[in-house]
Amino acid sequence: MRMVVYWIAWGHTLKECPLRQHVMGEEGGSWNHPIDTGETPEDGAHFDAIVVGGGPGGSAAAGYLAKAGKNVLLIEKETWPRDKICGDAVGGKSLSHVKELGVKDTLEATPHFRVTGIVFSSPKGHQVRVALPEEDVQRLEAGYALPRQQFDHLLFEQVQATVREAGGKVMQGADVREVLYQGAGGGEDPGSGSGDLRHAKGVKVRVGGKKGVESAYFAPVVIGAAGYRCPVAKSMLEETYEEQMMDRDHYCAGYREYWDGVKGCEGNIGDIEIHFVDTVIPGYFWLFPVAEGVVNVGIGMVISLMDKQKKKLKAMQADVIANHPLFKERFANATMLPNTGRGWQLPFGSPRKKSALQPRRSASQGIFLVGDSASLVDPFSGEGVGNALVSGEIAANHILEGKGPEEYQKALWAALGPELTNSYRMQKMSRKAWLLNWFVGKASKKPAIQEMMTEMIASKEAQENLHSPWFMFKTLMF
Ligand SMILES: Cc1cc2nc3c(=O)[nH]c(=O)nc-3n(C[C@H](O)[C@H](O)[C@H](O)COP(=O)(O)OP(=O)(O)OC[C@H]3O[C@@H](n4cnc5c(N)ncnc54)[C@H](O)[C@@H]3O)c2cc1C
Repeated sequence: MRMVVYWIAWGHTLKECPLRQHVMGEEGGSWNHPIDTGETPEDGAHFDAIVVGGGPGGSAAAGYLAKAGKNVLLIEKETWPRDKICGDAVGGKSLSHVKELGVKDTLEATPHFRVTGIVFSSPKGHQVRVALPEEDVQRLEAGYALPRQQFDHLLFEQVQATVREAGGKVMQGADVREVLYQGAGGGEDPGSGSGDLRHAKGVKVRVGGKKGVESAYFAPVVIGAAGYRCPVAKSMLEETYEEQMMDRDHYCAGYREYWDGVKGCEGNIGDIEIHFVDTVIPGYFWLFPVAEGVVNVGIGMVISLMDKQKKKLKAMQADVIANHPLFKERFANATMLPNTGRGWQLPFGSPRKKSALQPRRSASQGIFLVGDSASLVDPFSGEGVGNALVSGEIAANHILEGKGPEEYQKALWAALGPELTNSYRMQKMSRKAWLLNWFVGKASKKPAIQEMMTEMIASKEAQENLHSPWFMFKTLMF
């Protein structure tokens, strides 16, 4: 079984994999197959909504709209199967959406790593384990870790079927190049124009690479879900409002590799690990097993802090693996899966200074942004899949209820702001080695703190407590 994910991460087709039947379960259920998304819509076609990007945010938005009977065009730049650079941890927050969108059972029937705890270590090497007990999975909503190639494929495959059943269309290998606005030409639908606030009316899409064919599609709303470089977010923020999209204080660089045979990461159930290693602070190093001995190993750091470092993330990671006393033995007999080392950016949802719109503008006339496109990644844990799914649902509900951009912006921050603000505080604290040493040292000896951390990480109700300084003070000090 170890070979299974190895082969997938390596980019081999399952046909070549000796354990093909075992992985696939039922014939045709694999995440390593192409997905048939049907016919391309005709140039100039109209829809109720256009969703740009088929990752978790776009799939959620398109899925919820289609479930409500809307005629959706879902556009994805890549062609499935495709990789996505990530830590591959899918937290508890995602589970209700995975279920609602109809993929929970399929997902659980494929190989995945069930997360039953998170191990944190401090720069001094103290460790604390936060338990997410299997018997409490339902209440605590503990999550999984599995390659995003697999997770996204399962989600997209189901959602594209839902979209098409509701009369919509799905495109892959289709690159959205431009957002079209009312009164601004770009097709046969001139619209009415709306003064200084441009109202989106559709998108221009290119299929077939640089010399490919361009088509225009129209809808009263365009959902930007194309990740941190989303063309819809770029058009809205930089062109319409002349606002900054990328912010080095609030964007994180991440680097990921897949390894096989790391000691302590065997099996399909256990802990994921977050290490605040002395040579990596102010960033962190992670080991997230994804099943059968294959581990997602990575490193992340806020970009403005990385600007001050001499080493790049890849070199830092190589150094930890080869030389750090906590890890070199664990990696002694491990091998990196070829061609799996890649970097990407995480747009954090940490509140920006002096901005009335938090974390930044996320909607405009005819535009809703979700997931990374709206900069919603948790600034402490680096988790963004859950918030992409949550924002996809909120955007869909606002569109279904005919609500406008201001209401969406408020609802999004009301739902995610407290948690993102708190995580930002924790991220800033985690830059200080002495504080981490103190906290992890204390937590490793105090079961009450470990229990608090379990509840904080996994239980929605307990997260409310995080906003009470008194509760935190009491638990830490007494
Ligand atoms: C190194 C790293 C580690 C991470 N670890 C974790 C983790 O362990 N857990 C976690 O929850 N999150 C993690 N994240 C964050 C997580 O990956 C993102 O927050 C999440 O993928 C956001 O989902 P999304 O749907 O908004 O965007 P994406 O997943 O980026 O999906 C965007 C989609 O849009 C498509 N697209 C792009 N441009 C266009 C275009 N022009 N036209 C059409 N389609 C387009 C892309 O191909 C892609 O399929 C990590 C991120 C990184 C970089």
